[in-house]
Amino acid sequence: MKKIYLDYASTTPVDKRVIKAMEPFLTKNYGNTMSLHSFGQEAKLALENSRQVLADLINAKPNEIIFTGSATESNNQALKGVALRERSESKGGQYKNHIIISAIEHACIMESAKWLAKNGFEITKLPVDKYGMVNPEDVKKAITPKTILVSVMHTSNEIGTIEPIAEIGKICREKGVYFHTDAVQSFGKIAIDVKKYNIDLLTGSAHKMYGPKGIALLYVREGVKIEPILHGGGQENGLRSSTVNVPAIVGFAKAAELCKVEMKKEGARQIKLRDKAIKEILKIKGTRLNGHSENRLPNNINVSFPYIEGESLIIRLDLEGIACSTGSACSSYKLEPSYVLLAIGLKPEEAHGSLRISLGRFTTEKEINHLLKVLPKIVKQLELMSPFKKKYEKE
Ligand SMILES: *Cc1c(COP(=O)(O)O)cnc(C)c1O
Repeated sequence: MKKIYLDYASTTPVDKRVIKAMEPFLTKNYGNTMSLHSFGQEAKLALENSRQVLADLINAKPNEIIFTGSATESNNQALKGVALRERSESKGGQYKNHIIISAIEHACIMESAKWLAKNGFEITKLPVDKYGMVNPEDVKKAITPKTILVSVMHTSNEIGTIEPIAEIGKICREKGVYFHTDAVQSFGKIAIDVKKYNIDLLTGSAHKMYGPKGIALLYVREGVKIEPILHGGGQENGLRSSTVNVPAIVGFAKAAELCKVEMKKEGARQIKLRDKAIKEILKIKGTRLNGHSENRLPNNINVSFPYIEGESLIIRLDLEGIACSTGSACSSYKLEPSYVLLAIGLKPEEAHGSLRISLGRFTTEKEINHLLKVLPKIVKQLELMSPFKKKYEKE
């Protein structure tokens, strides 16, 4: 049985063209970018060329791109870096200590905010509407003279909703507040212009866009004051000490190049497959689509079925060779209902029966057809077995 991978939002395979671009930097050109000899200089050149490619993708300048080890690190660096710099500049006096995030951010933003709250900062979590959209007016109202930073993701990793980041960016710039966006799910898939959208900090990651794991970036607009978290040899403009991971960065840049070329065509292809699948899945009785029907990532489908457990569904699909996910990969081990689905108004029992199907570059129409054949049968079987169904029908 050939397996069908429909979990591209949690990670992607590395494109063969990316592996080919990386290979020389694992074997022949393995120098350290800080070395003065020719090995080092070759590595340094590859690093700076890659930085240029990634900067171009979002209309940034190369010196505004810092490479990190993961999107989790970039998001931690953005929130903690801005907050801690603000405090250290106050030299023990008054400082701005307020940060605004949305209720549907990725766990690494949520947990960074929680840590900052334990360490003297105030956090406001903005609600979202039933589609998962943040209202820019709410951002405006939440900003106080003590606000340093607003962090709202570009697109939800779970329900695919695209947030109004251009409007939020404009408000933040007018109010003199930094704006960070976690763009991991949209990076290379939807065009982003950091200048046009007034973005001060942005997170992107390679392994969600057919690049290798263990490499990500943080865009830091020139002039943004930020404290490093890792101290050492002073790489990446002093903001991220560590020997630079050149092979991964070369792969990241190649992945970005491919995404940029293929973005329009691939996005349209995925939207067609996505909408076909949504239409069919909604024919299963009681199913609801989570997120917005149009204002959503080309590759995201998120649906809930009443009465059944998302986890049982994943296991049954896996037995059929189909890999999907419940909420996000990071929360699926926790067996708690997804906070994202609760934030858009689902009841806990509805949130438990959710399924995220995320498509990618290698998803074919044949694969989607197979899913659409198998899924209704499994849902029906699980419904028949469901103890919840009887319980709710009685109520
Ligand atoms: C995957 C993801 C992250 C975290 O990425 P890691 O590779 O686990 O560090 C952060 N934000 C979003 C939106 C993501 O999809």
